[in-house]
Amino acid sequence: MKVLKFGGTSVGSIIAIQNVIKIIKNNLSNNELPIVICSAMSGVTNKLNLAATYATQQNENYLKILKEIETAHLTVIYQLISIKRQSDIIIQIKMLLNKLEDILHGVFLLQELSNKSQALILSFGEQISCHIITELLKQHKINARYIDARTLIKTDNNYTSAIVNFEATNRLVKKFIKNLNYIPIITGFIASTIDNETTTLGRGGSDYTASIIGAGIKAQLIEIWTDVDGVMTADPRQVKTATTIPYLTYKEAMELSHFGAKIIYSPTLYPLYKQKIPLVIKNTFNPTHQGTVVEDKSHLSDSVIKGISSINNVSILNIEGSNMVGIPGILGRVAKALANNKINVILVTQASSEHSICIVVTQENSHLAESTLNEVFNDEIRVGKIDKIKALSGFSCCSIVGNGMRSYSGMAGRFFATLGKHGININAIAQGSSELNISAVISTNMLNKALNVVHEAFFSHNVITLNLFFIGVGLIGSTLITQIKSNADYLEQEKRIKIRIIGLANSKKMLFAETGIDMIKWQQILKTSTKINLSTYVSTMKQLNLANSVFIDCTSSRDIVALYEKILSASIAISTPNKIANSVSYDEYKHLRNLANKHNTKFLYETNVGAGLPIINTLQNIKLSG
Ligand code: ASP
Ligand code: MG
Repeated sequence: MKVLKFGGTSVGSIIAIQNVIKIIKNNLSNNELPIVICSAMSGVTNKLNLAATYATQQNENYLKILKEIETAHLTVIYQLISIKRQSDIIIQIKMLLNKLEDILHGVFLLQELSNKSQALILSFGEQISCHIITELLKQHKINARYIDARTLIKTDNNYTSAIVNFEATNRLVKKFIKNLNYIPIITGFIASTIDNETTTLGRGGSDYTASIIGAGIKAQLIEIWTDVDGVMTADPRQVKTATTIPYLTYKEAMELSHFGAKIIYSPTLYPLYKQKIPLVIKNTFNPTHQGTVVEDKSHLSDSVIKGISSINNVSILNIEGSNMVGIPGILGRVAKALANNKINVILVTQASSEHSICIVVTQENSHLAESTLNEVFNDEIRVGKIDKIKALSGFSCCSIVGNGMRSYSGMAGRFFATLGKHGININAIAQGSSELNISAVISTNMLNKALNVVHEAFFSHNVITLNLFFIGVGLIGSTLITQIKSNADYLEQEKRIKIRIIGLANSKKMLFAETGIDMIKWQQILKTSTKINLSTYVSTMKQLNLANSVFIDCTSSRDIVALYEKILSASIAISTPNKIANSVSYDEYKHLRNLANKHNTKFLYETNVGAGLPIINTLQNIKLSG
């Protein structure tokens, strides 16, 4: 048997729902009927949350939100359900909404929202969406029936993020599945206690519903239908060259979902992992794409690193002091205190000198973590054995994940070397002994660059992109642009280098385009852009912080040379025909060369001598060869 789960966006619009019906139809065969789980329409759970918050504050806007929820559902009904079937389903939905309104009114009067009421309020999204999908399937002559998951999944009374009682649940699920002769459309996300009080499995929990039921019936396969082509090698919003990962092991998928790839709700994987039930993540909007398969085995074709993920906005807390060696159980005390305050630790490192321990937590938790730790080590801090602990914010965690690292060396080396080469400072590192994940904590403003260069380093059958910043577009500059343009295809296809011009400036105007400036129309565009300001030009280059940035100085101006120091210090390479920097004092020249070395970048000036004849390069080679 197969379990199909459709997420919020898959049931969130007319087009999506039409695709869902097609997908379900494709899964019909006489001897096997699929089990279907649906989320609430996208945005509805958030709206229910908001309505509950308004009601608690005695703000009548909750009624407005309720109306919006009603409209969203009625629109789907009017557009997809035939007129003669509409009245029944509308009555059903209105009854549910009336019940919801009564509950919200109660909250409004009491100005109090318990977790129990909250779970009940949130449960309406899935109830309504599943009624609509069921009705629609019936209209398509499919034998479907609405099933409320509260009759199947039993949990504790941790209402909004309940823990599943697998024993009771499995019993109910097994009984349910016997002689099933219709397609059940089961509400995701919601469950109930043994006393039949409504609970939820935590936000995003519909995936988990699919996995609980799938594991309970020992399904052959679980398909999670969402709005992306599976799990990607990196967040596609940050890394444009990210591609779908075809296969992941359960452990890799768990690691990736913990580390920011929010494709699967992370508890989902565990029940499937235990029973080795494969899970496929597919795109409702692109159903022929193979998606990502999560299963037990690895594949020969697998790359060593499967994906790169990140957690934004984390804080670092260092526990250090001159006299820490020998104080027993520091790590234990840290862990216990943080756990008692429900603070999740993302990463821990301790050097073997035992002089410092570094803890990484989310930024939201940083204040609480700071006060907790200062309290725990109060005695040691008072006598100066440990320094007062301070949470440092503005960091992010970037990780490479892949099972293959276990039997491979050099992955950490490549990871850190890549970060280093691009001038990205590392504040803390960690590798779990499972060797599934290596993480580096870096400053948040470097994250986008880090993800891109690391992606390039590990998945670079891709093309490397050079990002150019021109200054001076006279004869030399504009000729260079023309040359780049006419060689672009050759460079990309044969040399795997893609060149983009991100910044352009002459003595009057300057222009930036993060996705590249049109190399034909640049002259017109530059004419109408903003007034030049050198320090803004440099700071914009630094802020954009693109990988493989090169500053091209096609002027003969001293003012521009005065900027070189700042530019090299930002790990931006310089390439220039401008002779000034190389013909001032030897010390100044040497200083620039040293800066370039220190920041792992290049300072190139072939055209300074012999108007571009390969003289400098030849001299350097001769020197190198002794
Ligand atoms: N509707 C719930 C939520 O948005 C559950 C889910 O979509 O998985 O959190
Ligand atoms: Mg959702």
